[in-house]
Amino acid sequence: MPLSDISNKDLLDNWLDLECNFSNNHYNSINQINNIEIGQANDSSRKILFCAPHAFNHFRYNKIKVADIFTGSLCQVLAKATGQSGIVSTCPDNNPDYMGFGYKYLHQIERAVSNKLLIVDLHGMSNKYGLDVCIGVGANPSIRVNQLVKCLMNDLVDYRVSINEPFAALAEYTITNFVQTKLLGDAVQIEIASKLRDPTNNPIECGVFLRTIAKSFSRYLAE
Ligand SMILES: [Zn+2]
Repeated sequence: MPLSDISNKDLLDNWLDLECNFSNNHYNSINQINNIEIGQANDSSRKILFCAPHAFNHFRYNKIKVADIFTGSLCQVLAKATGQSGIVSTCPDNNPDYMGFGYKYLHQIERAVSNKLLIVDLHGMSNKYGLDVCIGVGANPSIRVNQLVKCLMNDLVDYRVSINEPFAALAEYTITNFVQTKLLGDAVQIEIASKLRDPTNNPIECGVFLRTIAKSFSRYLAE
């Protein structure tokens, strides 16, 4: 169903419903065998793989990293609303890679990159930075990344959006860095402030934001 046919209420309800899969068990992952997937990463009609690596509490370098709430559900909503693919890491305790996502997750990203998909890595940041969105373009942004960033900057004109400040996606534990430097693929990191990931308490603002960013991805895809 094209985005224009989905009402704001349905979009928001979908986001809230899907978040229950994460919040039900206090953001501790139960089924750690399979990552949550939307669409087929190897479908040649798709161009983007939305990723949410931090939807559950997990370990990074043996330290607990608490979940980026509403990013696992956002990944699924955006993939569906734009007709693209999505993957949410279920953060396995056993056999995690050093980044904490799980080797299976990294292999799935690798497959998507070899199928020429642009990786859009979704994260949550605190409100304390005074921003709504921070786009991290990484060490080696490609033409596709720059085109998407241009779309987002245009469409998110009513929001406080920064590029690379304070999150540039240069750290070796970021998916964007992994994709750009190890796989030589296209990736961009998007950090979203917590007030725009709070549809329970801030439904109107979050609903408008969700539609605005989904539209922007659709516009990029149509270019
Ligand atoms: Zn994160």
